[in-house]
Amino acid sequence: MQSAKTRKQRLTGNRHAGHGSSHASGRLVSDVDVRIGVFRQPAMQTPVLVLNASYEPINICGARRALVLVLKGVARTEEEQGAILHAARVNIAMPSVIRLLEYRRIPHQTRALSRKNILLRDRNSCQYCSAVLTAGELTLDHVIPRSRGGLSTWENLVACCHDCNRRKGNQLLHELTDMKLQREPRPFSLHTSRHIMRMIGSADAAWRKYLYFEAGDAA
Ligand SMILES: [Zn+2]
Repeated sequence: MQSAKTRKQRLTGNRHAGHGSSHASGRLVSDVDVRIGVFRQPAMQTPVLVLNASYEPINICGARRALVLVLKGVARTEEEQGAILHAARVNIAMPSVIRLLEYRRIPHQTRALSRKNILLRDRNSCQYCSAVLTAGELTLDHVIPRSRGGLSTWENLVACCHDCNRRKGNQLLHELTDMKLQREPRPFSLHTSRHIMRMIGSADAAWRKYLYFEAGDAA
């Protein structure tokens, strides 16, 4: 309670102090940032689709970060959530989709290489026997085993059932006659990214027109 009051006083202080330069975007952002921190509205955690200047979907971030990008003038809101944030001097529609105003080259290497993302890319199916399983029933297989110099990369990791994983062991694929990959593991690309975003964002109708659904893939 005490700290909330202090914060409120500080905000009020900022408001007066900022009077002369009410449009200084830095101050505006920090004001709103503080308020967001205080209220922690559920809308703040909603995933927001981030588009490049070219309208290509490139990422997903939390609404809080999206709002900061919009307030800094780095991005603009393309679709709204419906919720309104009542901040110090402004009422802001919470974004559902934002678009960067300047085109950015996306460094794919920095994209999180995670078990979850690999399973999403491979649609939760074993890449050797095609069985579609739950995340808990799948493991990650190094196509070139680690013991033989294989790296943990998008191109060398595939979703794999425990049976296939055991059968493959430390062998290379060309040493096995009865096992082969259903498809080459795709490196991370905009296609992979879009696929993952579709899986995450399938509930948000506002995202659909920005994500290119493949034939037969639409929910
Ligand atoms: Zn399998």
